[in-house]
Amino acid sequence: MIIRIKRDDLVEVIRGRDKGKRGTVQQISSKDSLAFIEGINLVKRHQKATGTTTQQGGIISIEKPLPLFKLMPVCPSCDKATRVTVRVLDDGTKARICKRCDGMFS
Ligand SMILES: [Zn+2]
Repeated sequence: MIIRIKRDDLVEVIRGRDKGKRGTVQQISSKDSLAFIEGINLVKRHQKATGTTTQQGGIISIEKPLPLFKLMPVCPSCDKATRVTVRVLDDGTKARICKRCDGMFS
């Protein structure tokens, strides 16, 4: 399988409620094919105040992970959400290449 999206990538949401939004990948769960993205898919949770600690109750925002198929990496060269191909370089390392502009991902 081609690894399209990695940690610290800038990605764009291509489906769903947050379509068009961009954020940086904080964490990938490859087992579940989910990605946690900074500031995307925020859900408000009501948190109960717990009597024994100093923790305050109230509403907190948490990031829910998005399935990878709803995401596309944003090319650092052409600044567009794009498909990528993987190319093996001369030194044997694999690089992700933008299908739009042929630019290389970090
Ligand atoms: Zn590009």
